[in-house]
Amino acid sequence: MMEQTYFVTRTPEIDGVHFVHSDKCQVFPDMQTEELGTFEGCEAAMDVARGRYDPINACALCCPKCYVKRGDADAAA
Ligand SMILES: [Zn+2]
Repeated sequence: MMEQTYFVTRTPEIDGVHFVHSDKCQVFPDMQTEELGTFEGCEAAMDVARGRYDPINACALCCPKCYVKRGDADAAA
């Protein structure tokens, strides 16, 4: 698996959630981000992000494996 550099958004987005993106993301946010490091997968990046921010989620586009769809609450968008 190819290594990628992952980032987390400093400013919380929807519902106060910080999102993890890879540097290859096509929708990389136009806001301040913090580098998490270079990992082989988003799982490790999520672990690092979790230690810094809460709550966090992964970008559905660049980290689909780690993206958690919020099924229950807050379905209104
Ligand atoms: Zn992304």
